[in-house]
Amino acid sequence: MARVLLTTVCREPAFYDYFGENAPRRLRWRFRMPRRISFGLRFLRQNLPGLEILEYPTPQEFSKALKKGWDVVGFSFYLEETNRILRMAEEARRAGVAEIWAGNYGALTPSIESNWDAVFSGYGEEAMAQRLGQAIDHLHHPPLVVKFSLPGGWPFPLGVLFTARGCSFQCTFCQTTVFAPKPKAIPLESLETVIRFYRGHGVHYALILDENFGNVPHHAEAVIDLLARYGMKWVVQSRVDLLLKRFDDWAAHGMEGAMFGIESFQQDVLKQIRKGEKAEAVEELVGRLHRDGLYAHGYYIIGFPSETPDSIRADLKTLAALKLDTTQITVVTPHPQTQLWNELKSGYGITETDWAKFDTKHLVWQHPNCPPGSLESLLEEGFELCYANEWRGRVWRKFLARRRAQHDLSSVLAGALQARWGDPKRLPYFLPA
Ligand code: SF4
Repeated sequence: MARVLLTTVCREPAFYDYFGENAPRRLRWRFRMPRRISFGLRFLRQNLPGLEILEYPTPQEFSKALKKGWDVVGFSFYLEETNRILRMAEEARRAGVAEIWAGNYGALTPSIESNWDAVFSGYGEEAMAQRLGQAIDHLHHPPLVVKFSLPGGWPFPLGVLFTARGCSFQCTFCQTTVFAPKPKAIPLESLETVIRFYRGHGVHYALILDENFGNVPHHAEAVIDLLARYGMKWVVQSRVDLLLKRFDDWAAHGMEGAMFGIESFQQDVLKQIRKGEKAEAVEELVGRLHRDGLYAHGYYIIGFPSETPDSIRADLKTLAALKLDTTQITVVTPHPQTQLWNELKSGYGITETDWAKFDTKHLVWQHPNCPPGSLESLLEEGFELCYANEWRGRVWRKFLARRRAQHDLSSVLAGALQARWGDPKRLPYFLPA
């Protein structure tokens, strides 16, 4: 078999931390979850054991790895990492690597296609197996443990689960519409194996990162039964309408919180972006999550073409009034091959040429009402409002009250020890027999 190394972007210099990117810069006491493992690469490694993977290396580690000699080096990356990946690809070619592959969302950019010998669009296990002359009978879910820290630093492990991958909705801004438009369930037996691994290693909380949990309804129901059978608590990513529809049942089966797209409070904007949600539904969902003491994590976008700095400022106040535990705020960003890309390109012009700015924190197109720099400032204002001084005390009180009500402080206390499974070197690729 060809010698294949799959890797990610080099860390620069620290690991990416989603919670750091979605909080005011000044905030030190916040959630932390440094990205130390690549979920996509671990799926590939689990299902194609002949591959080698290298996750978020330092530049020195990457150069050293290249010296081992590879037939293929493949890069898994996101759009904003493109420049750095192109430099890594050049280095690999100079080191004599015959083929360079690209995968993950960053590989969907047509203008950089000529840099790759193969592009894997979507979840790539089967396509890669085919390319390597292999076959995959059943997809296996790898153990994916991450170290999550509460404000103040207390760590505990989260077991990441993908129960189905892809989404059948057609939101105009979302690259999943191109990457994986048909949701595909991960086999239940494989999920059971990984859940058993989590329980056996003191991991009591699952983070379900499906693009849209519940999009394959019968499978989602079987999954929550499975989680309940193993006594796992879980936080789930899904749509507001699905969460509201299944709220009581999911809460009765161990749901500890939800992550959901708000996107906008303006019904005309939700219609434009084909979100298919009612603006007022968010308030109902957040009210129910707070009432039950469950974690509430919302995704919000500023800078749609019809918005102005004043309208955005007013909506950010509405957003802050929801008192979410975590608020992600992003600037409207066109991603290649989405409907939004075409609309913004033809209607206003995409002006930015530096891919690093397509990180959803910068304005990269010609906005009709918001001058350059204004959305970046509004982003900071929004974070300041959502993480005002009372935020820390509020999330701690909610968290502790819930743990007490669940008689569940011990699993969090023990979490500091079990969080060691979040160390990439300790976390196995393969499950024990
Ligand atoms: S529902 Fe979520 S994952 Fe699905 S297309 Fe819309 S934004 Fe993307």
